[in-house]
Amino acid sequence: AHCSLPSGTVHDTCCRFETAHELNARLLPVLDELVKTTVFRYYKINLAKPCRFWDESMLCTIRDCSVAEASEDEIPIQWRKAALSSIDWVNRKPKDSDALVSQCEFNDKDFCQLDDELTESGRYVNLVENPERFTGYAGESAARVWGAIYNENCFEVPSSHGSMGTSRPLQKAADEVCTEKRVFYNLISGLHSSISIHICDQWLDRNTGNWIANLGCYIERIALHPERLENLYFVWAVTVRAVSKLAPFLRNHPFCEGTGDERLVKAHVDQVAEIVSSCPATFDEKIMFAQAPYQQLKQEFRDHFRNISLIMDCVGCEKCRLWGKLQVTGLGTALKVLFSYGDNPDEYRLTRQELVALMNVFHRLSESLMAVDRFQARIAADLGVE
Ligand code: FAD
Repeated sequence: AHCSLPSGTVHDTCCRFETAHELNARLLPVLDELVKTTVFRYYKINLAKPCRFWDESMLCTIRDCSVAEASEDEIPIQWRKAALSSIDWVNRKPKDSDALVSQCEFNDKDFCQLDDELTESGRYVNLVENPERFTGYAGESAARVWGAIYNENCFEVPSSHGSMGTSRPLQKAADEVCTEKRVFYNLISGLHSSISIHICDQWLDRNTGNWIANLGCYIERIALHPERLENLYFVWAVTVRAVSKLAPFLRNHPFCEGTGDERLVKAHVDQVAEIVSSCPATFDEKIMFAQAPYQQLKQEFRDHFRNISLIMDCVGCEKCRLWGKLQVTGLGTALKVLFSYGDNPDEYRLTRQELVALMNVFHRLSESLMAVDRFQARIAADLGVE
């Protein structure tokens, strides 16, 4: 276990732990403000989609599992039902990417199942008022979902001489060379670490009714497993790289005019873009899918990630499902930016939903890194380590 903060380079990245800390200390205050804006705190989501893998109808009934829907008069006029039903679907020209994405379940560049903002299904949720924290969701249902997610890490490595049809399951020897498989696992594990850290950092003390930072929870789930901690830094570094690649696009993006805080959003987004662009790349996406047999893995990588986005409909607690779906969508958006597009921002097709999810998962990861600082400082203090 780490008794102090880890040092050296985070595996498979170009990022040192120390650099991550410095950069994150600058990013978090800006992201804190950005996710409070109207554009970034409302997310439209369908939490009633059935689980297509097993029977998961029993949603957790604990009070902290429930999600409060945003009222119609709370959200900007252009997102209200009346505005939606006034859209002339027949003559509507898809002047932005939203309509294009809604035409099919998966656009060929998507890594995720997307909840379309322009359909009647789904509801707006105020993310600030439904924070990710301890809900009490655990046991068989949660273990089953995590098990299914980790099962998506089984790849078939294409034969270097044949087609996908002659593929063989990944064997131990291939594990050692397949960066793609390792990256996939580390991303999922890092996201899992971040979710666990939020649970530990905002833990309900049932005796007092207060929300506390539970050090024992952190030690058990994270500190005793240094690889889980490193995977958190890994997924953070990949997300920083995606946002930095997206920076020119973000700087020119017209964020939902009419919400009232466009200028504030623009100022914060520009600041995030500036901070992530101010340092050398934290991750080199070109190491992925570069060599001959592994190029074909890209589609498989995408398909597996899409399955994970579908598995999120099987999470048996509404609040956990909300944050699970949103964060997988955010991470999927980061992967879409890194692997589905080149460097020309004019090519990028991203919906508001994807951008909201991306910035919110970025904020969650950033918060997790900061919580790690606090927990590790308490461990060091308890052990008398400098
Ligand atoms: P779990 O976290 O359930 O882990 C299951 C197993 O996975 C562990 O036994 C271990 O072998 C392995 N594992 C654990 N961490 C890692 C890692 N980082 N990398 C690799 N392997 C790992 N609960 C809440 O209270 N609030 C939430 O917001 C919330 N959101 C959730 C979102 C999703 C998508 C899911 C599936 C569950 C969520 N939960 C949430 C439940 C929570 O994640 C745990 O499942 C629950 O707290 C029980 O934890 P556990 O200690 O049994 O281990």
